[in-house]
Amino acid sequence: MTQEVGPLIKSYYPKHEVEIKYIGDISETANIVNTKINSEEKVLGEISECNKIFRLSLRENEFLIYLDNEFKDSEMFNYIDSPDPHMPYEKRKRRAYKNQLFRALFRVMSEETGRKLPWGILTGVRPTKLLFERLKNKTVGNISYMVNEYYVSPQKAGLAQKTAAKELQLLEKIDYEKGYSLYVGFPFCPSICNYCSFGSHPIAKFGHLAEDYIAALLKEIEKSSELLKDKKLQTIYFGGGTPTAVTAEQLGRVIKKVKQCFDLKDCIEFTVEAGRPDSIDEEKLSLLKAEGITRISINPQTMNQRTLDIIGRKHTVEQTIEAFKLARKMGFDNINMDLIAGLSGECFDDFKNTLTDVGKLDPDCLTVHTLALKRAARLTTQKEDYEGLDASDVGQMVDYAAEYCMEHGYDPYYLYRQKNMTESLENVGYAKPGKEGLYNILIMEEVQMILACGAGASSKFIYRNAENGRRFGRVENVKNVSEYISRIDEMIARKTESF
Ligand code: SF4
Repeated sequence: MTQEVGPLIKSYYPKHEVEIKYIGDISETANIVNTKINSEEKVLGEISECNKIFRLSLRENEFLIYLDNEFKDSEMFNYIDSPDPHMPYEKRKRRAYKNQLFRALFRVMSEETGRKLPWGILTGVRPTKLLFERLKNKTVGNISYMVNEYYVSPQKAGLAQKTAAKELQLLEKIDYEKGYSLYVGFPFCPSICNYCSFGSHPIAKFGHLAEDYIAALLKEIEKSSELLKDKKLQTIYFGGGTPTAVTAEQLGRVIKKVKQCFDLKDCIEFTVEAGRPDSIDEEKLSLLKAEGITRISINPQTMNQRTLDIIGRKHTVEQTIEAFKLARKMGFDNINMDLIAGLSGECFDDFKNTLTDVGKLDPDCLTVHTLALKRAARLTTQKEDYEGLDASDVGQMVDYAAEYCMEHGYDPYYLYRQKNMTESLENVGYAKPGKEGLYNILIMEEVQMILACGAGASSKFIYRNAENGRRFGRVENVKNVSEYISRIDEMIARKTESF
């Protein structure tokens, strides 16, 4: 429980280090809990839920949370509302207890800070996941369930409901449980963005490793193709980094290797994240078109040149427009564009202008991310360089994007949240009907195995366990390119063993 309380408190105090300490066992009754509060503490609230008492107090920047750990089954009964009938009773009971405590914390901290988190007490769980099983079982009252149980705002609960319904509708069309997806990673980029923690390598400095990297990647692809012969390959995603940061010839060799090693007859989507406009040219687009790539991304993040310069994306707004127009001219009919709300120095009008400019290009999908502060990103490690450049009104940007997308024919089709997101918001993928990126749903909802190749790639496998229901496993490759090259046989052996 102590691990889980941290992210909720951190959401209220994003710029503070939050340390959670377990001090020791306390009382079994509320009376003894009371005596634990000493006179130096400011009591923030005493919350009684379902006859349970939590007492929260603040002492020199510390929250003290007094819990009564005993739960009586009869009191818990009405609160145990797990959408998953396979979830063991003890786990459901624990979830109910956690939600009670979190609701109490939410009320007290909202009052203390004068701020309400839009996603209420939801931390570490995808909002759509909560609704997915309920929608499958045709349970009603999903919005009020999220509002009452998790304190999600009605607006965000509506967004989650709409997104989950779309996901379900899309997944029903494919036999995803019998299939799997392939991810291939390219850890090179033209330059490194100030919010990036992926560990991508600037191509100008590490380009000399690209040839050895491709050789190791081809080996991993070949060996991996032997692992899931009994399943259908349904979607392929080339991501990174930036797959188009390598040469057209190198990228072409990887695509050909995939086609040669895997059976693509059931493959309904092949995405290449072209990503950075400064990595795209006619030769690479021709290659992607000739190889039958069905979906690409050209990511502006912002259409304000000043912001691009601040965040270290060394391309121009014009390059984004030119790359998009070229791709359209060459016949790409499913192009996604990624945007970020909350970039350094941006205000609401900057974001609004970006949406207007991107809207003129009329992409097929718009993915709207909220900036997340990552430990390894320059925004954190060199924070003095970005002093005074905090974005303002990020919540308003995200709300405006939702309104804009829905008014212009884009529906939300996947949604997820990460740690340390600005104002505790969300990332949403919007698409015109029929243009959705299925891989995004499959990976977010964890409903399918993902076979992943490349530095930093993480394969996911699912297995069923009679006692605990569906379980997930991961095998992660090393992130560093040199290490990936030198340890490729070990990466392959680890994956083979796990699958
Ligand atoms: S383009 Fe993406 S992967 Fe590359 S540096 Fe920027 S955020 Fe990181």
